[in-house]
Amino acid sequence: MTKDNIKVYENFDWKSFTSADISDKIQLIFDLIPDDVKSILDVGCGNGAITNILAEKYDITGVDRSKEALKFVKTNKIQASADAIPLPDKQFDLVFSSELLEHLEAETLKKTVEEIRRLTKKYLLISVPNDENPDKLSIRCPKCNFDYNRPNHINIFDEHKLATLFPDFNLIKTIQTGKNVRYYAPFLLKLKKRFTPPTSWIPYYWIAKDKRMTICPSCEFEFEYTYKFHPLAGILDITNAIVSPKKPYWLIVLLQKE
Ligand SMILES: [Zn+2]
Repeated sequence: MTKDNIKVYENFDWKSFTSADISDKIQLIFDLIPDDVKSILDVGCGNGAITNILAEKYDITGVDRSKEALKFVKTNKIQASADAIPLPDKQFDLVFSSELLEHLEAETLKKTVEEIRRLTKKYLLISVPNDENPDKLSIRCPKCNFDYNRPNHINIFDEHKLATLFPDFNLIKTIQTGKNVRYYAPFLLKLKKRFTPPTSWIPYYWIAKDKRMTICPSCEFEFEYTYKFHPLAGILDITNAIVSPKKPYWLIVLLQKE
């Protein structure tokens, strides 16, 4: 078991996440897909919340490693890990990937990027969190003391960093969308993590009630995050609210092969 969040992923409640939750984003995705696209591969399609809707217009195949998630996918589907997809080269006009790359360990990320580049004939459409600071939702496992991001985001991407993963592609379009979320300044977070107890790191209003159960990706201990107010953490949060901007939560880029 690596820290690749296998148990975390398999335990995800797929019914809790529906197409309706992200209908605005799905509409944007439709708008971004170029007119000459007919076939799409959705890498890391999860429960098909996006895949099933895109199938209304496109010939789409979903890939995911979770059997549980794939039960909800109504299109062509393949159970496979994103870093080893059993399909021949250049099978699809566009390869799509939503909220996947931020979760992957360095080696898996590298191989997944290679698969995505290999499988597209022409376009890539990639969606990730928009230059977030994953330490903002940092939880310390009470059993093994491992610090991790609550939604298990490991990689940070802005438009530039995302484009450099695909050096043989040109960036055609970038969109920032979704709920406005406040960035957390790294130096303030460092102070918070250094001088305040882990129970004060995430105020309850940042983390919905149904998302407080968590599994440590290192030791797989499952527990409920419990918040306790700490004055210094409160002061740092207020300071951050003054100095850090809010920005749309998602970054979506469209790239075309050179
Ligand atoms: Zn642990």
